Amino acid sequence: MRKLFFKTIVVLLLISSVNSCKKELEPNNITKSKPAEIPFALVIHGGAGTIKKANMTVEQETAYTKKLQEALDTGYRILENGGTAIEAVQKTINVMENSPLFNAGKGAVFNSLGKQEMDASIMDGKTLNSGAVAGVSLIKNPINAAILVKDSTRHVMLSGKGAEEFAKQFNLVFEDESYFYTEKRMNQLKKAQKKEKVVLDYTSLNNSSLIDNHKYGTVGCVAIDKDHNIAAGTSTGGMTNKKFGRIGDSPIIGAGTYANNQTCGVSATGTGEYFIRTLAAHQVSNLVQYKNLNLKEALKQVVHVEIDTLGGDGGLIALDKNGNIAWDFNTEGMYRGYKKSTGENVIEIYNKN
Ligand code: ASP
Repeated sequence: MRKLFFKTIVVLLLISSVNSCKKELEPNNITKSKPAEIPFALVIHGGAGTIKKANMTVEQETAYTKKLQEALDTGYRILENGGTAIEAVQKTINVMENSPLFNAGKGAVFNSLGKQEMDASIMDGKTLNSGAVAGVSLIKNPINAAILVKDSTRHVMLSGKGAEEFAKQFNLVFEDESYFYTEKRMNQLKKAQKKEKVVLDYTSLNNSSLIDNHKYGTVGCVAIDKDHNIAAGTSTGGMTNKKFGRIGDSPIIGAGTYANNQTCGVSATGTGEYFIRTLAAHQVSNLVQYKNLNLKEALKQVVHVEIDTLGGDGGLIALDKNGNIAWDFNTEGMYRGYKKSTGENVIEIYNKN
């Protein structure tokens, strides 16, 4: 009996020493704890303007909501898989550029000569490197050309033919005019020209009879990735019946687009001239940095004080270095949405006030 007792003790000791050896052989022998959550998020807009529920059909509302969700999901997946904020912004914007619902890429508005001239820009909040193209035609995804300018030149902005030649050298995809053409945008041009007024692609500047609820659509995106880098981008066809050669705020760093890891990223939509005159996107960053305003307060100041005072209209989306998201606009509505690693997923169209 005693013998059996001692034998059992010896066997138990052996088993426990084998187990402890095994542990030491386990790679890194680190106590396995849950990795800290790395927050990431993105926010998008698809243009601001006279967007009233009463003027929308259920089908239109569904189509916009679906496309905005597809755009959000595209960027979110990239961030979730460890992709960069720049890549998320690019691919999210590509979804909207490829949709005729928005005034960017396919479905861009027409200028006074019946041509489509598109603008786009992107900014990397880590390095402040930026790229932009202005007044380009036939480039399927102008935001891709803006990224090329950022990455492959010493410059920030290329315009017109020079930008198109440059994009060709890098084998960017070009489409012919029929790809970009939509009857809806052509009708808007005809209507605007008949009235001999310059109108936003969605809102009359000074004649409410020009307001057409089918008009809207610049696109923008701001993202923060798992490395806490912020990027912002904007892409547009500009304004219906704009003068040949007119360039708006969207390709102007600091006006339509801005990103800085120290503060926030911002993308604008609206009557570009007012966003240029107020340097709207950069102003939001300044207010956060030097006045210690939170995003909401900073946006309110820029939209409802600075742009309002000049008589401008439009909206801004923004995302700060802590992943906080905000938007503001002084129009009837703005297509907008965000998705965060916390699980929040929001899409809104109309003014809630
Ligand atoms: N901001 C754009 C421009 O002025 C237009 C828009 O946002 O719809 O070109």
